[in-house]
Amino acid sequence: MINKLLVANRGEIACRVMKTAKHLGVKTVAVYSDADVNARHVAMADEAIHLGPSPSKDSYLRSDLIIEHAKALGVDAIHPGYGFLSENAEFANLCKSNDIIFVGPPASAIEAMGSKSAAKRIMEEAGVPLVPGYHGDDQQESTLKQAADDMGYPVLLKAAAGGGGKGMRQVWNEGEFTQALNAAKRESMASFGDDHMLVEKYLTRPRHVEIQVFCDSHGNGVYLFERDCSVQRRHQKIIEEAPAPNMTQSIRESMGEAAILAAKAINYEGAGTVEFLLDEDGSFYFMEMNTRLQVEHPVTEMITGEDLVQWQLSVAEGNALPKTQQELTLNGHAFEARIYAEDPANNFLPSTGVLHLLQPPEESSLIRVDTGVVQGDEVSVYYDPMIAKLVVWGESRDIALKRLLHALGDYHIAGVTTNIDFLKRVASNSAFKAAELTTTFVEKHNDALF
Ligand code: ADP
Repeated sequence: MINKLLVANRGEIACRVMKTAKHLGVKTVAVYSDADVNARHVAMADEAIHLGPSPSKDSYLRSDLIIEHAKALGVDAIHPGYGFLSENAEFANLCKSNDIIFVGPPASAIEAMGSKSAAKRIMEEAGVPLVPGYHGDDQQESTLKQAADDMGYPVLLKAAAGGGGKGMRQVWNEGEFTQALNAAKRESMASFGDDHMLVEKYLTRPRHVEIQVFCDSHGNGVYLFERDCSVQRRHQKIIEEAPAPNMTQSIRESMGEAAILAAKAINYEGAGTVEFLLDEDGSFYFMEMNTRLQVEHPVTEMITGEDLVQWQLSVAEGNALPKTQQELTLNGHAFEARIYAEDPANNFLPSTGVLHLLQPPEESSLIRVDTGVVQGDEVSVYYDPMIAKLVVWGESRDIALKRLLHALGDYHIAGVTTNIDFLKRVASNSAFKAAELTTTFVEKHNDALF
């Protein structure tokens, strides 16, 4: 049983997790850095532990301190949220060896998906469709280039250790290869301390469609349908929705089953997301699996009526999944817009400062605001400058989209520059309305959006 839960995170996701814990009567422990002394997640928790200075490496990434305090406070389980230690196999192991439940998959599953190339090899063996490409260990430039020449341009170079769109380069022809490889390697080394590369066929107009999966420790697995996260900038998601527009039942089922196959191939437990590229002709290809709760999980909650954090805690306690595949139903349509303190007119540069005014739209069963800040808080340089996630539901995509636009209009923030006007332009764009979504949406409609 989980009676006391430590949330090893900050911001909106720490608050989100604690909300469910409170609802279940589970005691909560927050952790915080110097910058977060007065943060909302600290105020929400029953107990709070100061970890250290503001930089993440001195606070939110201090697994040693987190475990030490968790033990001293008699914590039963640790929820890592997303980012920070959530996909750190060593941390999952550390929890286990200290008799603390890690609310996430076994360390072996995190490890298996930690490298994009190793993950692709496992998926290939399990029979999950892959983007054509090279994911071998031989990293000589001649080998990589030969692979690119053989599959034909354009190709995408990807860091095996990558994440957040870093260490990726498109290569349009043979002549650009060497320079792009060096740039991708440099970026990967700087961000991840590793420059192992994959070469993939670059799909020119794909959609990013991902499947939410859940597995328990009794061998059961279900999928909670899909999310379309095609609208991106520099491979970062801007507005997500569920279900994906224009999905046929047959594609939905095939993708769902492929995602379960992927999860079972690594003996997965808990919440996971299998990301696919969906091509115009309906073919889909495995990209990667994220072994944690995703930022965009609320859209799935809106269309299924399930609380994914509640599912996570239940599975972590060793229970069977709350529902079977047949019992899960998909209802209506949901959007999530990520509200950021950033300046779209200035290359989306993060904007820091005090939130002098923070007035979100009124929440209801149709409108949800997940946030970790209140008026008067400061958006600092230390962490991701996301202010909130605005999530709306409607009976249909059209209704949900109108509601999103209204809600964005009712969101008032002063003190920092935000992307709200940019989000309004995206959501009111005629191609977006018509659900003409591909990962190149922002680039293609650049003139209308900026
Ligand atoms: P990261 O882990 O850095 O987020 P992903 O592998 O998840 O990287 O890819 C991020 C995004 O890059 C995808 O959502 C998609 O827009 C684009 N992408 C990835 N692989 C390909 C590909 N082979 N062809 C076209 N676009 C791709």
